[in-house]
Amino acid sequence: MSNDLPLRFDPGLFAKRGRQFAGNISVHDLPRIMELAPKSDSEFHVAMTFSMSSLQFPMVKGTIEGGIVQLCQRCMGDVRIPIRSQFQLILVSPDLVEQASEEGHEIFEYTGPSITTAALIEDEVILSMPIVAKHEDIEDCDSTVKQWMHEFDEVPTDEKENPFAKLKNLKL
Ligand SMILES: [Zn+2]
Repeated sequence: MSNDLPLRFDPGLFAKRGRQFAGNISVHDLPRIMELAPKSDSEFHVAMTFSMSSLQFPMVKGTIEGGIVQLCQRCMGDVRIPIRSQFQLILVSPDLVEQASEEGHEIFEYTGPSITTAALIEDEVILSMPIVAKHEDIEDCDSTVKQWMHEFDEVPTDEKENPFAKLKNLKL
């Protein structure tokens, strides 16, 4: 699989040249995502296309697809949350934000000569994360709970420790 995600890019240059790139990035290379969803262990497929906006600001359109693992807030089990992000961003330095906001697109602010690709991807993934993570189907929560119950059953019980055994003895 081809992977030509640059680590950093110069938005002005990429926009003028109409650059495109696509590739995969591991969630382990996205520290802010690992902090929010530490059990995640997969890759995101990322595609970006650069152009100049109508007011001549660098612009990027792109998609991010993948998934993260979060704790289900209903059963506290792991739940895989699919991430599908589509974005269109104007890329400007802080002094141009006011002017650029006239275009009505979302704005990504950056300082210095380039943007770190992972930082932009992190922002978009975080925006796509659910406010409350949970299994979509309550049946999936049930199975997590059932599995837990099953493990509990398998703990060997000592007859002497069993309160019902004691009751039986009392009756005798
Ligand atoms: Zn659940």
